[in-house]
Order: sequence, then C-alpha cells, then structure tokens
Amino acid sequence: MANGKIGVTTENIFPVIKKFLYSDNEIFLRELVSNAVDATRKLQTLTSFGDFKGELGNLDVRVEIDPAAGTLTIADHGIGMDASDIEKYINQIAFSGAEEFLEKYKDTANSIIGHFGLGFYSAFMVASKVVIRSLSYKDGAQAVEWSCDGSPEYEMHPIDKAERGTEVILYIDEESKEYLDRDRIIGLLKKYCRFLPVPVVCGKKQEWKDGKYVDTDEDNVVNSTEPLWTRRPADLTDADYLRFYHELMPGREDPLFWIHLNVDYPFTLTGILYFPKVKSNIDLQRNRIQLYCNQVYVTDQVEGVVPEFMTIMQGVIDSPDIPLNVSRSYLQADRQVKKISSYISKKVAEKLDKLFTTDRSEFEKKWDDIRIFIAYGMLTDEKFYEAARKFYLLKDVQGKYFSLEEYRQLVESTQTDKDSTVIYLYTTDPTAQYSYIQKAEQKGYNVLLMNGDLDDHLMSMLESKDQKLRFVRVDSDIPERLIRKTDDKAADLSPEDSEILTGLFSSQLPENKDARFIVALENLDADSAPATVTQDEFMRRMKKMAEQQPGMAFAGQMPDSYQVVVNTSRPAVRTILDKARTSIGDEVKSVLSEISTLNEQITAAKAPDASEDMKSKVEGLETQVADLRRRQSEIIGGYAKSQPEVRQIIDLSLLQAGLLKGRELSEFITRSYSML
Ligand code: ADP
Repeated sequence: MANGKIGVTTENIFPVIKKFLYSDNEIFLRELVSNAVDATRKLQTLTSFGDFKGELGNLDVRVEIDPAAGTLTIADHGIGMDASDIEKYINQIAFSGAEEFLEKYKDTANSIIGHFGLGFYSAFMVASKVVIRSLSYKDGAQAVEWSCDGSPEYEMHPIDKAERGTEVILYIDEESKEYLDRDRIIGLLKKYCRFLPVPVVCGKKQEWKDGKYVDTDEDNVVNSTEPLWTRRPADLTDADYLRFYHELMPGREDPLFWIHLNVDYPFTLTGILYFPKVKSNIDLQRNRIQLYCNQVYVTDQVEGVVPEFMTIMQGVIDSPDIPLNVSRSYLQADRQVKKISSYISKKVAEKLDKLFTTDRSEFEKKWDDIRIFIAYGMLTDEKFYEAARKFYLLKDVQGKYFSLEEYRQLVESTQTDKDSTVIYLYTTDPTAQYSYIQKAEQKGYNVLLMNGDLDDHLMSMLESKDQKLRFVRVDSDIPERLIRKTDDKAADLSPEDSEILTGLFSSQLPENKDARFIVALENLDADSAPATVTQDEFMRRMKKMAEQQPGMAFAGQMPDSYQVVVNTSRPAVRTILDKARTSIGDEVKSVLSEISTLNEQITAAKAPDASEDMKSKVEGLETQVADLRRRQSEIIGGYAKSQPEVRQIIDLSLLQAGLLKGRELSEFITRSYSML
C-alpha cells in the first residue's frame, strides 16, 4: 500500500479543472480512448522490434458501461504500467502556475488539457473517483491499482490481475450521468474515435427482436481502423474514394473529384479532399472538413488550416503536426499551420491544372460546378489567383469554353477599341438581353455568359490586373458604341431642334419609382433602332457590388438609371422632329431666345465688377428663367401628348430591354392597335 500526494504545485486542481472545463467535458472520452490506443500501438511497436516476445492476444480497446455500479471503464491490452510508471506518468504532472494559466485560457478548455498533458486527468471532469488497474508488459511485473477521488491524494497498492494492459474505471459523478448512457457514449466514440487505428468495442451489436433492440453475440466495433487516407493512393480505385466519401457525407451527390494529400516534409500531412458540386452561394456550407491528429478526431473548424475559400471542400486532413488541443486563434497564428494552408492551396491548384492540361473535355464538363469555388479562390488568395489564371475558363453564349489566354487571342483583333483597350462583351441573362446579344453577334463580336454569383467581382479583379481590358455588358450601350473604334460623330442638330427633340422624348418617359430614365440624342446609322435603352456598365456594377457589401443593402433600393438613346438619323425620328418644328418651332424659338437674353444678364450680374444694383437682381432673373423653362416644357409636353409615335418609340425600346411591364405594357398594346 502506498499513499502520496500528486505532484501538483497548486493545492487542489481538480475543482478548477471541473469548473473551467465543464463545457467541453465530453472530450475526456477522446483522451482516455486515445491513451488506450497509444498503449496498444506501443506494444505493437515493441513487438515489431522484437522487444516484446509474448502473446499479443486480442488487442481491442473496450469501453464498458455498468449502470448499476455507475461506472464507465476504458480497458486495453497495451503495454500497461507498473507502480513506477504510474508514479512517473500519472502522479507527477507538471502543473506550475496552473491558476494563472486557467484564468488566461478559461474559454479554451482544449488548449489547457493539451498544453499540460492533462489528458488522463480530464477524467475528473466527469468522475468523482478514478481507478487505474494495470499490468505492465514487462517480465515479472506486479499489477497495481491506483485510485484517487479528486483530491490531490492518491492511493496505490498491488493487486492480482491476469491480463496485461490497463483498465481505467470512472465513477461517474452526479452531474454527468449522461455518460452512463449507451447511445451517448457510442455517439461520442463515433465522433472522436471513428478512424482510430485499433478496434474500439462498445458493447454488442444489437438487433431488433420482439419489439425492442437486443444484444447479439457480436462485438460492436465503432471504428474503421484503416481509413482510406492512410492507404497508398496507388492502391485505391475511384470506387474506393467514392465509397469513403459517402461514408463521410451520407446522402450527398457524388463529388466532382478529389485530391489525396500525402506529404512528409516539411510537415506530415495526409488526407483526402473532395470537391462537392456547388452551384450557388447558398451551397457554400462549411465545416465539412474534419481535422484528425493521428486518426483521432480533433475538430471540424478548420479555419486557418485550409485557405478560407477551400472550406467548401469536404473530406479529412490528418496531421500530427497540428497540435491536438488547440484554440482557434492559436491555429490561425501558428506558422506551421500557415504552411499547411498554403501547401493545400498549392496542391489543389496543381490538381486543377493537371486536369485542365491532361483532360480538357472532362475539365470543361465539371467547370460550371467548380467555377464559383475557383473564382472565390482567385478573389481571396493571390497565390491561387496566379496559378488559376492558367485554367480559369470563360464561357460564351454558344457554350464554348476558353482559357483567359485563348479568349484574348480570339477577340483581340475584332474587339479592341480606339484606345487599344480590349472589350469583353458579356450577358448576365441571355433571354432578357437576347436582342442586344444578337446585334453584338451581327457585328462579329463574341458574347460571354457571366451569370455567376461572383462574376461581377471577378470581372473587376481581372480588369484591375490588366489596364487594357474592360468587361462591358451587351446592353450597356448601343451596339455601335459598345466598342468605340472611332470618335463619335458630332451631333447634327441645331440647338432649337435638340431642345425640341429632347423635350418631346423626356416628356413621354415612363414614371417609375424603381428606375430613372434620361434621354440622350445620338447621330447613329439610319437603319439602327430609333431608340435604345442602355444601362451604364460602371453604375450598374457599382450598385450590384454595393448591394453585396455588408451594411450597404440600401444601395439596392436606389433606382436603376437608364439612358434612352434616341437615334437622330432614323427617318421616323426625323419625321417627328420636322412635324414638331412646324407646329411649335416658333413658340419654342422665342422662349429660348428670351432665356438666352436673361442668361446673358445673369452672367453680367454675377461678374466681379457688377454694380450692387445688378447683383441684387440675380435672384429675380433666375426665377424668370425657371418660369420660362417650365413654359418650354409645357409647350413641348403638351404637343407631345398628341404625338403617339414618340411614346411608341420609347415603349419599343423599353420592350426590347425587358422593362415594359404592367399598365404601361397594356397601354402600349392598346396604342399599337389603334395605330394599325
Ligand atoms: P499524454 O497522453 O498527453 O502523455 P496523459 O495524462 O493522457 O498525457 O497520460 C500520461 C501518460 O500516462 C501517458 O503518456 C502514458 O505514458 C501513461 N498512460 C496513460 N494511459 C495509459 C494506458 N491506458 N496504458 C499505458 N500507459 C498509459
């Protein structure tokens, strides 16, 4: 019989452990089962080196629940411990400055346990008393029993124990009765021990008989001891990878492809990462990569270990170099972990590059499903961007794919504007923008399909990397001006004609709170449409990107602004203008000349050398101008009402842009009939 004090400097650490670690207390099971597995593996190692020559026997680790006794036992047939081992490994726990440390890290129970090698002592989070019964593998060893009730005092004495190995018996305390429940324990073993390298048995397999579950004779092994990632890629088939995927992620579609990671320098890491099918932002579910340390489950919070954009991948990473018990902030700061992250990023880029170069058609088939992932990576990870530039694909409206390089070669000769900027035309909605696409194609241009969630950001990024590249949506300007090859033709109208035409069309614009329209006059080809609605590329993109920014949702409520570009060369427009000039030309002319006289007076009155008397008149003059402007609008607007062709031309352009809806659409139809 031996009694003693556990080598802890702080008086009584167990209440402290309990208090601070309570929220995470389930990990005690992981700690104890891992110890049992380690002890078993050590024995296997000793055997393989010839240092242990006895019978290995059954090496299963057993987790047994005895509800009557209120105990949970973790038993192994590993190397065991004799009295001196227990003295060394269990009694002498280095625990200096415990309280200070606990105070600092009270939120990260995991890190405390790992830091101090407190694995075994985590048992006291759920047990009021812990007993170790162990027989060492060493020749002639004396079995011992150690017990401790949570005070720093322990008790140890020799016992009779025939089987080699260790039993750790937990007398589960009042608050932790859940750990006497079979389902709870099996659930935890499945979570933490699913891939441990030694079979872990918990009770018997059960079967449904006479309306309830009953035990069979067969041991219930909870883990698979040779998970796929520990095997050599060369020995595995696609079917193996798919089977493992479905084991990890039940009820999902087949993944697109996978990467088997396997490095041993400068760190050790194995794992398999799968690319799921991802179609939209909504699919971007995280926490699907599980992190293991020597097959012991650590966490599914892998932020920091894999690059942010790769957290949409699924699978497992196993690295003994990632500390088993770590807090998240620690993970993110750790240099080793950063190296791992950039290694994984590199591997993924390599895999994609290989697929792109060796099996282009397969790569294209998968492209639509992976492009959001790749775009996200390019946007958030500079190194990945550099690698992905080679294999990022653009898709045109005909469904053809081009690498960035190929696409530039395709359009460079036809789509370079007068400032030597190459213009990539695109559509976000081939149906709605159909007529714009057609016109662009008629001009010999190629049109890309850019309807992905991240495409706006991606286009902006590509533009920022290449000053001589610009993306322009097909409806953002009239076809002639999408790619400006020459300077604009000068306007060919007199100031009066301009005022009349602008006034006519402005007065007939639809009233719409979601959209703002302004009229612009352009001297285009005579056979181009009389009017075309365009939406400025820059404004539209800014608005859309602002909407996606946190706290900028109001940007979405701002009205969209459109231009109605009126083609002054079109005969129909000419006719409207000629008629208007005949009816209201003189009236408009005289108002305009009054305005210009007043404007001259205002300019003179505002001049620095103007007299005080003149200065005082400015306000009055400005009011007169405003009145005259109103008068001008009334004259033109009143006349325009009697000219249904104006509204008809506007409505046709809105119709083409998909903007004519509701009441306005129905009025348009009525008007069209009456004009027939
Ligand atoms: P760690 O496992 O991090 O070293 P623990 O407190 O969990 O810390 O265990 C301390 C030591 O006690 C182990 O390193 C091992 O030598 C010994 N030990 C614990 N459990 C067992 C076991 N089931 N069989 C043999 N030795 C064990």
